[in-house]
Amino acid sequence: MQKENIFFIGCLIVVMACSWIACDQETARQNETKTIDTTTKAQTVASLCGKCGEVKGSDKCCKVEGREKCSKCGLLKGAPGCCKITGDAALCTKCGEIKGSDKCCKEQGREKCSKCGLLKGSPGCCKIQ
Ligand SMILES: [Zn+2]
Ligand SMILES: [Zn+2]
Ligand SMILES: [Zn+2]
Ligand SMILES: [Zn+2]
Repeated sequence: MQKENIFFIGCLIVVMACSWIACDQETARQNETKTIDTTTKAQTVASLCGKCGEVKGSDKCCKVEGREKCSKCGLLKGAPGCCKITGDAALCTKCGEIKGSDKCCKEQGREKCSKCGLLKGSPGCCKIQ
């Protein structure tokens, strides 16, 4: 009888250990998918801030200190959106231009940036990837 009990408890421990390991692997997998999700999000959602002209949410966004404002558009001088946007604008992740604008994905006569692959001189060039 006692031997049986020990065997039973032994089995129980093995089962518990197995489910614990399985659970651990499951959480690891969930964490992995979460990381992938955030990276794809960062790449597809690229927009310019309508208040400052910088890439929204970037380090420079709405940091007015030490920056000059453009006399023409009122956005931060030298910002990717300066004189190009009049409000929040989405950037095309394929070409770097403002999504849906006349220039968007018009590669004719344009040069591609050797660093980021987007159209050279576009607001998103070297800024959104
Ligand atoms: Zn901003
Ligand atoms: Zn401007
Ligand atoms: Zn485009
Ligand atoms: Zn570039």
